[in-house]
Amino acid sequence: AKVTRLAPSPTGFIHLGNLYGAFVDERLARQSNGIFMLRIEDTDDKRKVEGAVELIISSLEYFGLKFDEGASVDGEIGNYGPYYQSKRAEIYQTVAKYLVEIGRAYPCFCSEEELEQIRNEQISQNVTTGYYGKWAKCRDMSLEDIQKHLDNNESFVLRFKSLGNPEVNFEIDDAIRGRLSMPENNQDIVILKANGIPTYHFAHVVDDHLMRVTHVVRGEEWLSTLPIHYELFKTLGWEHPVYCHTAHLMKIDEGVKRKLSKRKDPELGLEYYMKLGYHPATVREYLMTILNSNFEEWRIANPDASIFDFPFSLEKMSNSGALFDLNKLNDISKNVMAKIPAEEIYDFLLNWAKQYKQEIVTLLTEHKDAVTKLLAVGRNSDKPRKDLIYCEQIFEFISYFFDEYFKIEDPYPENITEEEAKNILKAYLETYNHNDDQTQWFDKVRDIAVANGYAAKPKDYKKNPEMYKGHVGDVSTVIRIALVGRSTSPDLWEIQQIMGETKVRERIQRLI
Ligand code: GLU
Repeated sequence: AKVTRLAPSPTGFIHLGNLYGAFVDERLARQSNGIFMLRIEDTDDKRKVEGAVELIISSLEYFGLKFDEGASVDGEIGNYGPYYQSKRAEIYQTVAKYLVEIGRAYPCFCSEEELEQIRNEQISQNVTTGYYGKWAKCRDMSLEDIQKHLDNNESFVLRFKSLGNPEVNFEIDDAIRGRLSMPENNQDIVILKANGIPTYHFAHVVDDHLMRVTHVVRGEEWLSTLPIHYELFKTLGWEHPVYCHTAHLMKIDEGVKRKLSKRKDPELGLEYYMKLGYHPATVREYLMTILNSNFEEWRIANPDASIFDFPFSLEKMSNSGALFDLNKLNDISKNVMAKIPAEEIYDFLLNWAKQYKQEIVTLLTEHKDAVTKLLAVGRNSDKPRKDLIYCEQIFEFISYFFDEYFKIEDPYPENITEEEAKNILKAYLETYNHNDDQTQWFDKVRDIAVANGYAAKPKDYKKNPEMYKGHVGDVSTVIRIALVGRSTSPDLWEIQQIMGETKVRERIQRLI
């Protein structure tokens, strides 16, 4: 059984990268009957945001991810807590004390200015910067000297005493990247800051060990500091977890591949999908296509299978940057939505509206039956229509139904004048019978077209193309525009059945 964790910092911004990693964590845990936990890395007070933890939990839940253990809205769940790093100070201090005892951690009294000076000197000598080797002034301080600094009430940080040699390489297996060979660490990194708060490097080692985490899934930005973590685990005599460093989400921007950025790409934030009302199944489906290279193939072979039956595997993950493409996501959404029954789409739309578009909630509830039927038009066939992407747009698809939203959006076909359109609509109204079946209805439309000189191409049409007035489709477009305000829509006859005779007649009448 694998134990995985999501370890976000509560900064109030939860993004697609978090979700991407969380999917991996969740799949590893589920597929092995393991545990997926939520640990809150809230050691940086300045970045903490009120309500951020609730936002993380609710956003992930929206996308179908539930934690077995850790921080939750009803307090903490599980026996390995506390699950907030801010509540674990004593634990970190105990482990730090142990490192001091075995001579592998020491207090450092260097001021900011002194550190700056060391750095400048290193730069001028063209050597690696940092606190290490002969540059580490406080490393071999005598107990007497330490006592003197303490007696002076000087503040200090606690540093790890590294014994590594960067000229020597060690090997470690990354479950996504395979075997890595990296230079040993020799930096005496800070493990506890002056206020006693641990750094990420130290805290995650302590937590992942004590919380019996078996797999650490995290972004590739942590790869360069892996040697530090490796040495910390080794020094503490603990087995390190299996690391899985995921590639950054990339996008092609004006022909150039670059990392998705919080500032430039609103689609990086999960709010984006929730506000527009993407179905969570869409986002899951899309993320899986970029997570595992064989997913699409599997989906084609198993069109109706639950995504949770896909045999997700770390080996099939890309390590060169997963390419994010919103157009592809939208295409996937059309496929996903095409499979969801209209009743479910209605419920989804209503829930979304309650959250993000209050002003349509009453309309939706008052017209539940009609809306559900409108959503179903064109769906009960072998080739269901694939045009619904997200709620905001789904509503636009059906908004014409409501008089308060109905408006003429498209012009009549170019070859039909205002006057001719009126004649068509007059003829339509005269012959309209709400009880006509689809064939009878269409025959009448064709008759109107023929009677008005549309539909047939004159014999010498090639020589005089302007003699050709247009075909039946142009005539039905005029009717369509009158009824739904747009030149395209799903089956018009079906829509009229849902609208009812009165509305149909009213809409035609107002244009005559
Ligand atoms: N708090 C770290 C982050 O948000 C977690 C990294 C990890 O998963 O170890 O980047």
